[in-house]
Amino acid sequence: MKEKIWLSSPHMGGREMKYIKDAFDENWIAPLGPNVNGLENDLEKFFDQDVHVAALSSGTAALHLSLILLGVEPGDYVICQSLTFSASANPIAYIGAKPIFVDSEKDTWNLCPDAVEEAIKFGISEGKKPKAIIAVALYGISYKVDEITALSKKYDIPVIEDAAEALGSMYKNQKCGTFGDLGVISFNGNKIITTSGGGALTLRDKAFKKKAVFLSTQAKDDAPHYEHTTIGYNYRMSNVCAGIGRGQMEVLEERVAQRRANHDFYEKLFKDNPHVSLHKEPNEDYFANYWLSVVQINPSSPVSVEDIMERFQAENIETRPIWKPMHLQPVFQDEAYFGSDLAEKLFNNGMCLPSASNMTDNDRKRIAEVIQEIFG
Ligand SMILES: *Cc1c(COP(=O)(O)O)cnc(C)c1O
Repeated sequence: MKEKIWLSSPHMGGREMKYIKDAFDENWIAPLGPNVNGLENDLEKFFDQDVHVAALSSGTAALHLSLILLGVEPGDYVICQSLTFSASANPIAYIGAKPIFVDSEKDTWNLCPDAVEEAIKFGISEGKKPKAIIAVALYGISYKVDEITALSKKYDIPVIEDAAEALGSMYKNQKCGTFGDLGVISFNGNKIITTSGGGALTLRDKAFKKKAVFLSTQAKDDAPHYEHTTIGYNYRMSNVCAGIGRGQMEVLEERVAQRRANHDFYEKLFKDNPHVSLHKEPNEDYFANYWLSVVQINPSSPVSVEDIMERFQAENIETRPIWKPMHLQPVFQDEAYFGSDLAEKLFNNGMCLPSASNMTDNDRKRIAEVIQEIFG
């Protein structure tokens, strides 16, 4: 068997072990400590906006806390992009709130503004204006920030920016993760940088960050004994994991450049191929980290997307389907949906190609050979 080419594997920078060793040397083996504070500072510097960062145990935890911080309660409506990973939507269910799923638009594959407005009007007509809009920057391409922010202002509904896949991406030169009322980052093992498992929340002010940290550390009131007036969560990041994150932050810009180089490689590979369309930045307002390079297989293609994926698998090269839209998931089948069938079509015809920042020239050669074999 040839060596496996992974879709998106961890890629250490080299200094992670130093920060982990610090944690051991100082005996900060706990969900708090200098690496946790250090990673938050690194991220705040990186975002270069007036945002505060709370390091958490996962991106999913960050989404859950976002909804709690916005006061979402059982029975409330929350608008959520349908074409996304289930972690964008699951926290709505944790709370007992109700998702309203919304279709994509063709440029970014993210929230369709017209369908968002329909969903808002539907909520209002039911006497329940949606409490939040979860806007995803899918595969590292920002959503239409100006349009979605305008709707957020018009109807006074906060935006949770799910930038779990978009650390290092930008829109009009501003970093993704800083556009929403709250922003979510993930450091899972397959993301552009990793802490093995982990996430972060970006918040607009210090008081809000304090509240996020309070809730994520069991909501212990300021009292000599254990006093609780609120339900708390165990969602803080481990100081050992944060050490990995500190090392990874040192190479984030390099990782973005490497993923973008993969995308350039695919752009050249498919340049004269009428059957394959590579998903890319719609215009110069967008700067993608290209966490994953994804393609649509056009109806003209002599080979189906399933067959293409099988050919890669036979060569021990990992590919993946595009996220299956939430409104088509059995677990969410009874929830409302607004829009057309774009998300479904993108899912049916799409696939994710190997995109790791540590791919070698030889890996790229093997990928090119498979494509050459399929399309001639
Ligand atoms: C990975 C991901 C999450 C969840 O992050 P975890 O750190 O794995 O909990 C949320 N939303 C999207 C779009 C993701 O890709």
